[in-house]
Amino acid sequence: MDKSHVKVWENCLSIIKDNVSAQSFKTWFEPIKPVKLSGNVLTIQVPSQFFYEWLEEHYITLLKKTVRKELGAEGKLEYSIIMEGAFNSAKPYTVKIPTTNRKELKNPSVQMPIDLSNKAIRNPFIIPGLKNVNVESQLNPNYSFENFIEGDCNRLARSAGFAVANKPGGTAFNPLLIYGGVGLGKTHLAHAIGIQIKNNFPGKTVLYVSSEKFTHQFIDAVRNNNQNDFVHFYQMIDVLIIDDVQFFAGKDKTQDVFFHVFNHLHQNGKQLVLTADKAPVEMQGMEQRLLSRFKWGLSADLQVPGLETRIAILEKKIYADGIDMPKEVLEYLAYSITTNIRELEGALISLLAQSSLNKKAITLDLAKNMIDKFVKNTAREVSIDYIQKVVCDYFDLPIELLKSKTRKREVVQARQIAMYFAKNMTKSSLATIGLHCGGKDHATVLHACRTVNNLMDTDKRFKNYIEELNKKISIQ
Ligand code: ADP
Ligand code: MG
Repeated sequence: MDKSHVKVWENCLSIIKDNVSAQSFKTWFEPIKPVKLSGNVLTIQVPSQFFYEWLEEHYITLLKKTVRKELGAEGKLEYSIIMEGAFNSAKPYTVKIPTTNRKELKNPSVQMPIDLSNKAIRNPFIIPGLKNVNVESQLNPNYSFENFIEGDCNRLARSAGFAVANKPGGTAFNPLLIYGGVGLGKTHLAHAIGIQIKNNFPGKTVLYVSSEKFTHQFIDAVRNNNQNDFVHFYQMIDVLIIDDVQFFAGKDKTQDVFFHVFNHLHQNGKQLVLTADKAPVEMQGMEQRLLSRFKWGLSADLQVPGLETRIAILEKKIYADGIDMPKEVLEYLAYSITTNIRELEGALISLLAQSSLNKKAITLDLAKNMIDKFVKNTAREVSIDYIQKVVCDYFDLPIELLKSKTRKREVVQARQIAMYFAKNMTKSSLATIGLHCGGKDHATVLHACRTVNNLMDTDKRFKNYIEELNKKISIQ
């Protein structure tokens, strides 16, 4: 903690000033002196026991909020009380006490024996159910924008996230809902937004929480009869990031409390960032009023990354880890794993593990071997893209030509071969294969397969090509 107690208290005062009348401020806050700050506990000195009780009775909520805002969710306040007339340590202090409340107040002069002067009275802001929450934002520094590769698959979501990070609560993207399938980068992007906001606005309270954790905290709060604390805690966040809101499905009470937190934050210009596995229209088990709130801002989806983005992501990873890997291996991984980024990373990690455990160089063979095992359970097949790449490499043709409509002889033949392998090695329909290979129709693909079969029967050299290609494409 690098803030000094004076600075922290100064910050607190500037917030308090905006929330109480000028007279109250002068009476109840100006006389307070900050004494020390140790960890997240700020000690303030108040002129009397009575003064302390008055603060506790009338300003506790404001003080709590303010202190937490400055010191984080586990920020605590301790009072140090000056006794009147205690060894001249302080001038006796008189406060004005509104007569209406007088009956509830104790007489300060009979309260404390002198030897208790300066004894701190703990005022812990412990919120049951939040005990395990770190005061910090819960952000993973690795999930930054710098580490988030941009591609067609995430362009909208990424730039909306970036806009939000530069102006939290100040864009039309509130809430920003990022949705998409597993392993496509929702959590990463959500963290990136939080990290960027912390960088841009260090004073803002940013909190990342999974909806699962939110739910458990809420259940605990209910159990401990602490619902209000729970709600207040969440209502003082400036930027609330809730991951995987689909987890709220069917949990009416949690949805209800989230609805209130949402409204409070939204009304106060605070930013909400949500992630989900589906678009709001497709979410089930979610209250209508909540769904309609989700649609207030922007819903941006993350899609399966294209080949180039997959390659860029792998390149970034191996570069960051300082690993040397042949380009063909990297491309092979990117071509083979098309489902999502988490699997792509998983494949890379197992490959690295295999190579270092068995002291084997990272080669294409090792990669093929590993991929075969790694993706065995997920009904793996070679992709059309990969087939096209191998065929093009083999004939030394640019892949764009193969995907184009050109009728040049050598391209036509390579394209037919690619179609033939796609038909035999993937489960793709003839129409899909045609679409990938120069926008042809299914009849053209059938024709290509027949042509290749015929040529293999009649042309030995051609048959050789096919056999060699077959080896290259097949997974060992
Ligand atoms: P989700 O929350 O959608 O299931 P994650 O955010 O956990 O997905 O992403 C899975 C993995 O993929 C993480 O390790 C993440 O860093 C990585 N990842 C996702 N998108 C990108 C990207 N655009 N650039 C780099 N890494 C990414
Ligand atoms: Mg996630």
